[in-house]
Amino acid sequence: MAGYGYEVDFLPVGNGDKSGDAIALRYGEPGNYKVMVVDGGTKESGKKLVDHIKSNYGTTHVDYLVNTHPDGDHASGLEVVLEQLTVGEVWVHRPWEYAEEIRHWFKDGRITDESLAARMRDLLSHAYRLEELANEKGVPVYEPYAGAKIGDFYVLSPDPDWYLELVPQFNKTPTAHSASMVEAMKSFGTRALEKLVAWADEHWHIETLSEDGETSSENESSVVLYGNLNGRGVLLTGDAGIQALGKAIDYATEIGVDLIKSRFIQVPHHGSRNNVSPSILDRLVGPKVVEGAAPTKTAFVSASKESEVHSRKVVTNAFLRRGANVHQTKGQQKRHSHNMPDREGWTASKPIPFHSQVEGG
Ligand SMILES: [Zn+2]
Repeated sequence: MAGYGYEVDFLPVGNGDKSGDAIALRYGEPGNYKVMVVDGGTKESGKKLVDHIKSNYGTTHVDYLVNTHPDGDHASGLEVVLEQLTVGEVWVHRPWEYAEEIRHWFKDGRITDESLAARMRDLLSHAYRLEELANEKGVPVYEPYAGAKIGDFYVLSPDPDWYLELVPQFNKTPTAHSASMVEAMKSFGTRALEKLVAWADEHWHIETLSEDGETSSENESSVVLYGNLNGRGVLLTGDAGIQALGKAIDYATEIGVDLIKSRFIQVPHHGSRNNVSPSILDRLVGPKVVEGAAPTKTAFVSASKESEVHSRKVVTNAFLRRGANVHQTKGQQKRHSHNMPDREGWTASKPIPFHSQVEGG
C-alpha cells in the first residue's frame, strides 16, 4: 500500500514525580486514517489529547480508545476524550465482572461476590468510569486480552487466566518495596538525599541493569499492543513488567510475530528499572549491537518533567545497546512518523545519549 503511513504521538503527562501515558496514533492511507488513543494520562492531558486530535489529525472521531491498566495517570484522561469526542470502540478490562471467579483468593467468608465487585469498582474507579461513560453514550466496550485484535493491533498480554491471578494482588506493594521506598524518598528532590544516590560505571560492554526487577500487579496487567503497520512493527507496552513482557514475547512467537523487528517501541513504565531486564530486552528489542552502530529503531519514554526516577539511565543505555534511539517526553510532545505529511513547526527531537554513569544502589 503505497500511501500507507502512521504516526505515534506521546503527549506530555504529569506534574511533580508522577508520570503517566497519553498516546495518540493515526495510521492508514490518506483519506482513510484510523485514530487510536492508548491511555489518556491525567484530566489535563486528556484535554491536550482532544486538542491534538482535532488540530493535528483534523477529526473529532477516535476509532479505538484503549486503557492499558486502571491507574489514574493512565485512565483518567480517557474520560475527557470519551466525553468530548466520538468514539467507535472502548477497550478496558472489567475485573468487577469476575468477582465469582476471583473470590476464592480471599479467605474472608464475609466477602460476597457483590461486595467484592463493589470494592473493585471503587478501587478501579477510573476504569469503571470509562465503562459507565461508554454505556451512557452507547459505545461498545470490549476487553483487551491476548488474541484480541484492535484495528491493526494485536493484544499480546495479558491472557484472561493470568489476569484473574493478578487482580487479587492489586493495591499491594510489590515485594521489592524496599527499592521503591528509596525511590519515593528520592522523588522529594531533596538535595541532601540526592547525594546519597550511588553511581555505577557503565560502558557499552558493561551493563548493570538487574535481572530481577519487580513491579506492581496493576502494572503487570498492562495491555501490550503490537501493530503491523504495512510491514512496520509498533510495540506499545504501558507499564508492563518483566512477567508481562515475557508473556507478550511468547504469545507473539506463537502467532508468528518477531518483536525484535519492531521499528518503534515504547519503553515500559516511564523508563523504570524495575520493569525490564537484560534478558527480556534481548528478546524484546534485540541482541546487543556493535558499539557505534547506527540505531535501527526508535524508542519513546513517557516521563514527567520533574521525575528523577523516570527515566533511568541504566534503562536508556540498555535500549541504546540494542540498537534503539531513545527519546523522552519530559514535558514535551514527541512524534514518531513514517510516510505522513510534515507537521508545521515540528523539529526533530534529540535522542538521549549513552551515559557512562548510571544510578546505582
Ligand atoms: Zn504509569
